[in-house]
Amino acid sequence: MIRSSIERYHPADSFLHADSFPSVWCQGCGIGTAVYAFIEAVKEENISPKKIGVVSGIGCTGKVSECLKLKTYSVIDGNVVDYAVQLKKKDQDLTVAVFLNNADFLLSGAKDFIEAGKRGANLIIIYVNNFICVISENKVFPITPFMRMSIDNEFELPFNIPHLAKSCGASYVARWTPIHAGWMKYSLIEAISKKGYSMIEVISPCLIYDGNDGRIQDAVDRMKFYNDNSVMKNEEPTENLDLRSQNKVIIGKFVDFE
Ligand code: SF4
Repeated sequence: MIRSSIERYHPADSFLHADSFPSVWCQGCGIGTAVYAFIEAVKEENISPKKIGVVSGIGCTGKVSECLKLKTYSVIDGNVVDYAVQLKKKDQDLTVAVFLNNADFLLSGAKDFIEAGKRGANLIIIYVNNFICVISENKVFPITPFMRMSIDNEFELPFNIPHLAKSCGASYVARWTPIHAGWMKYSLIEAISKKGYSMIEVISPCLIYDGNDGRIQDAVDRMKFYNDNSVMKNEEPTENLDLRSQNKVIIGKFVDFE
């Protein structure tokens, strides 16, 4: 009896489509953690589910739109941020969050991301950065997939997205990993209540690609890595956040303008 009531009532039931479970995401993938942190933030802010729009694009991060019981929009042509901008323009009362992966962002959406920031679009960008941008079996594109070979057999390296966000006018910039889910939630609460352009980078493992490369063992191993190799530096200048020049992953809240 107790067991069935646990199965029936999950704290996020009212936000999640039951038929989207078991989830498509691998156990330990940070996308699920980011989604749950977002749900918790929305609950804490007491926003009506009718007043939240969530836009996502392609790939694993794109599945966010399928599992949430909110106004969700799946945009597969690369114009994810632009779609979100238009959505917000149509309904100023709508809280609009955008879940982006590397392909949505750096392959096809960078220009829209920059434009939206320059115009002060009132959006919450949740950028799930797993350093993967595989377009086909043997090709990758933008300069993001950490230690992954491009078609010229050169390793591609990650890009300083928090600095880009600040440079184009974001009023709120933070970076977390899944093991910092509680901080991620509080960042999302702050971003939701803020007027302006907010960007939260979620450094997240891809257990399939990184696992196949032998770079990580499993999710527990990766969480231990994040725990041991992250350093919290709130208000760190964003130019210092380039992952290429760090032994540690700097996490925290870096920009918070009114
Ligand atoms: S671990 Fe990788 S393949 Fe699995 S859901 Fe996450 S991003 Fe997708």
